[in-house]
Amino acid sequence: MDKKLTKLKRALKAFPSLKKESGSGIKAIKKILKCQVQLGLSGVKALFLRHENMQAAALARQHTLPASDWLAQPRREAECPICGEKGSRGTPAEVSLFFRVRCRIPKEQAIESRFCESCEHVFFSPPPTKEQLDRYYSGGYQNWFNMQERIAFEPGFSAHLEMLADPTSDHWKTRNSVYKEGLSEFKDFKGNVIDFGGDDGTLTQKIFPSTDNISVVDAGFTGNLSDLLRQCDFFFAAHVFEHLPKPYETLKDVAKNMKANSYFWIEVPQQYNGSLRDRWTEIEKGVPSPDPLAHMHEHIHHFSERSIETLLKRANINIEKRVLFPGSIMGLLGRKMDASQ
Ligand SMILES: [Zn+2]
Repeated sequence: MDKKLTKLKRALKAFPSLKKESGSGIKAIKKILKCQVQLGLSGVKALFLRHENMQAAALARQHTLPASDWLAQPRREAECPICGEKGSRGTPAEVSLFFRVRCRIPKEQAIESRFCESCEHVFFSPPPTKEQLDRYYSGGYQNWFNMQERIAFEPGFSAHLEMLADPTSDHWKTRNSVYKEGLSEFKDFKGNVIDFGGDDGTLTQKIFPSTDNISVVDAGFTGNLSDLLRQCDFFFAAHVFEHLPKPYETLKDVAKNMKANSYFWIEVPQQYNGSLRDRWTEIEKGVPSPDPLAHMHEHIHHFSERSIETLLKRANINIEKRVLFPGSIMGLLGRKMDASQ
């Protein structure tokens, strides 16, 4: 039994979140071991799942404030993180429990979902801090254990993962259509590409098959990128900017360091149909909808056509092509303005 426990303890080092969140992790596992659970990876996974489900239920009780308490908290004025204007309308945000727990956002902290009257951007206020987001994305954010931990909180998330893993899913059919329409002219491109927040880089390898110079860069560390950016001909960021605490500041810094006339591809989800302004009015009236605009999870921005264009223009990027799949995806191809013009 002791040998098995040592082996398990060692295996547990791979699950920092489990260790952090629960002082009773080892105790719980000892108990389960007595029930003769088989070891090996499948056994460890089974223990992990059982533990995560118990943790999720306990944390749900600790981290949920009654709706009346949220509504009683004062509203605040907030600057739009995209256009910088102050005029915005707010409504209490419903924060994903998994996100709140992983970021360790205190349950007393009220968060609003806000709609910018000027650029029609939806954002959360206050946004999560960099420290909170670092907690969320650290420790192999997309590894099996983190994903299972999320499923323990959000059982519906498993269908989302299946869709992402299936190259024939509607999601990938749409994404492939977007790239065909927006980027097929780059199949012979031989320049230096930065794949910003690109995970394992397989997507950019398909889009830019003729270049050997693709650098996949973690979206959390823009501060050390200047040398790489100065050599970069194409900055590719698909489904990244909706996760960033300061999308405008990030893009402005990137564009400032890149060569004149270098290319940009910025792609974000558009998870509503029709006008975002109309949808927002419905949200204020409490009209239910499956879209997540008032629900903060790892998407802390919801872009409108106007706000994504504003983001690029304010960063001195000329928009050359718009690939819009309403209700699904917006992809914009741009080039850094030549300072001499
Ligand atoms: Zn705005």
